[in-house]
Amino acid sequence: AKKIIVVNPFVGVPKHNDFDIVQEELSELQESEFLAEAIYFSVDPYQRMKLGNVYPCDMIGGQIARVIESKNTEYPVGTLVMGHFGWRTHTITKPENEKLCQQKPYLYKLPDFEHLPVSLGLGVCGRVGNTAYFGFSQICQPKPGETVVVSGAAGAVGSHVGQIAKIMGCVVIGFAGTDEKCQWLIQEAGFDHVANYKTADIPTFLKGTAPNGVDCYFDNVGGELSSVVLSHMRTFGRVAVCGAISTYNETNADKLKATVVQPSIVSKQLKVEGFQVNRFADRNMEGIQKNLAWVKSGQLKYKEHLTEGFESVIDAFIGLFRGDNIGKSIVKVT
Ligand code: NDP
Repeated sequence: AKKIIVVNPFVGVPKHNDFDIVQEELSELQESEFLAEAIYFSVDPYQRMKLGNVYPCDMIGGQIARVIESKNTEYPVGTLVMGHFGWRTHTITKPENEKLCQQKPYLYKLPDFEHLPVSLGLGVCGRVGNTAYFGFSQICQPKPGETVVVSGAAGAVGSHVGQIAKIMGCVVIGFAGTDEKCQWLIQEAGFDHVANYKTADIPTFLKGTAPNGVDCYFDNVGGELSSVVLSHMRTFGRVAVCGAISTYNETNADKLKATVVQPSIVSKQLKVEGFQVNRFADRNMEGIQKNLAWVKSGQLKYKEHLTEGFESVIDAFIGLFRGDNIGKSIVKVT
C-alpha cells in the first residue's frame, strides 16, 4: 500500500517537492473494520486550504474505493464507497473512525449509477454536485427569467450551477479562463453568454449581456472579477460565495487587500452568504438522486478531466491552479 504525504506547508501554488510518497504496511483487520482499495481520487481546490499545522501530514481528499476485505456486515466485499481517506491506495477503517472526519458526509455507499461511471460519485453525483445543487438553489434562490452569473464556470461546480440555472429558466452568464472552455460552455453546457475573464473587457461584456443587472451571482473565484460582477448586481441581488480560488495561492498581502468587495455589497444591499456543503449533509442522498436523475435524462451534461496513475494526482492537483481542467478533475488510481 502507498500514500502521499505533505512534507511542509504550501507557499503559493503547491509544488511537487511539497509531497512525498511513502509505503504503508497493512495490519490485520479487527472486528467491524474493512479494507478499501482506491479506484478514483478526487482533486479539489479545498485540499489546498484545509491541512493542519503539523508536518509531515497525510494529504486529505475524497476517493471512490471498493471494499476488498471485510469484518463489517454493513460493508461486505465488493461494496463501493465514498470516503475521505486521503491520497492512499488502501485504507483499513470502520464507520466509527470516519465519523471524526471534518468533511461531511464522512462515508457512504454509492447509489446504483447503472451504466454511468462510478467516478461521477466524486463529481456531478457527489459532493461537488451537491455544492452546486444546494448552494445555488438554497442561497441564490433563483426565479425563472432572472440573470445568473457564474465564475469558475467551466469547473466542476461552476459548469453544474450554470446548467441547473438553465433548467430553472434563468439567463446564464459564465466566466472561464480559456476560449476552449468558453466554447464548451456555450456549445455543450448551454450557457447563454460566456467570456474569457483573462482577455475580455468585463464591465462592457456585463453591460451588454445583463443590461438590467445581475440577480444572482454564484462565486467560485473571488478577487477582482467578483468585485466587477458585484458592481453590476441589481438591488437586492443574491450572492452565493462558494469559493475564492483566485486568492488561495496569493502571498502578497497588498494584493489580497485590493480584492475586498464590501463597498459594492453595502451600496447594493446584497444578500451575500457563504456556505459549506457540509451544511446540507443530512440531505446528501436527496441531492445525489436529483443530480443523477438530471444526468440520466440528459438535462445535465458533465465533463471529467481524467488523469491516470496514483502518482499523477500531485500534478492533477497543481493543475487545478493552472486551470488545466474542464469539469471535474479525477484521478484513476488503479
Ligand atoms: P474547478 O473544477 O473549478 O477547478 C478549479 C478552476 O479554477 C480551474 O480550472 C481554473 O479555471 C480556476 N482557477 C484557478 N486559478 C484561478 C484564479 N487565480 N482565478 C480564477 N480562476 C482560477 O474546482 P471546483 O469546481 O471543485 O471548485 C470551484 C470553487 O468552489 C473553488 O473555489 C472551491 O474552493 C469551491 N468549493 C466550495 C465548496 C463549499 O462547500 N463551499 C465545495 C466545493 C468547492 P479557469 O481556467 O477558468 O481559470
